[in-house]
Amino acid sequence: MKPAPFAYHRPQTVADALDLLASSDAKLLAGGQSLGPMLNLRLARPAHLIDLNDLLELDFVRTAPGALEIGSLTRHHRVATDGQVAAACPILAAAAASIGHYAIRQRGTLGGSLAHADPAAQLPLIATLLDAEISIAGRTGTRMVRAQDFFVSSLVTSVQPDEMIVSVRFPVAQAGWGLEIFTQRHGDFAIVSVATTVRRTPSGEVAHMALALGGVGIAPVSWTDFLVPFLGRAPDEAWAAELAEAVAASIAPEDDARIPAAYRRDLTMTLVGRAVAAALAREAAQKNG
Ligand SMILES: Cc1cc2nc3c(=O)[nH]c(=O)nc-3n(C[C@H](O)[C@H](O)[C@H](O)COP(=O)(O)OP(=O)(O)OC[C@H]3O[C@@H](n4cnc5c(N)ncnc54)[C@H](O)[C@@H]3O)c2cc1C
Repeated sequence: MKPAPFAYHRPQTVADALDLLASSDAKLLAGGQSLGPMLNLRLARPAHLIDLNDLLELDFVRTAPGALEIGSLTRHHRVATDGQVAAACPILAAAAASIGHYAIRQRGTLGGSLAHADPAAQLPLIATLLDAEISIAGRTGTRMVRAQDFFVSSLVTSVQPDEMIVSVRFPVAQAGWGLEIFTQRHGDFAIVSVATTVRRTPSGEVAHMALALGGVGIAPVSWTDFLVPFLGRAPDEAWAAELAEAVAASIAPEDDARIPAAYRRDLTMTLVGRAVAAALAREAAQKNG
């Protein structure tokens, strides 16, 4: 099947892109890895297609105090391989490297992935884990939205039809990290994914922990209050088992034709255990190295 007819635009500035977006029934095109199939299947039928690929000012990685800032047109491959990302936010680099296949990573963009908001996608997971700040531009100015307020539902975000994502700020902090992505085949979307960061005090108790899950609901899930009982304790086997059971018990994945909810819950328990073990091992290696 081929797309329904549309007028094609290739703006040269963000301001021109926003003008086009404000004045018409339009869709932004970034890497086209999600929108292309939706156009072909006629699940999206915009009257105007606004191609962002000449807006190279939106393709950047830079460090800021305590944060890493990445432009919305930055491809997954660059996020996966850029030295600044690897140094400041290695879990983000690992997440980008695990997306789909090489050809998809060469085209797909950070902004496109966040805007598409697939609940099983890697970059929304990491944005939620780190509570990244998403910079969204409209004709009247730019607003910042935290990831935890950005993802509304499956394929729905707080970006309005006349707005576009311009960049994303990922807070960075020294911590061990773990990322577990379970797929049926290499390159598929995750059935369940777990991302975590952990830091211990010098005497070995957990001082900081963040945890996010993908694939278990209508949007990525993360907790703060829920993790409080797990702070201030030495993370031994009993601690890890208690955490994994508590996380698995707190989710309510839907049954679907392919994957029963009970399977997703069991998988979550296993992946939380693995992700936390990996985070603790990395944190220990950082301290020793
Ligand atoms: C075979 C295949 C396998 C894949 N596997 C995975 C996977 O394992 N994990 C994963 O996370 N992803 C996977 N993807 C999706 C991939 O990561 C896409 O790149 C991503 O979802 C969309 O990014 P894009 O740049 O291609 O966006 P596009 O397809 O161009 O756009 C997607 C949506 O975002 C909107 N949009 C784009 N840019 C902006 C912006 N700056 N501001 C506001 N809205 C914008 C578009 O209007 C559209 O609605 C896969 C894709 C394919 C085709």
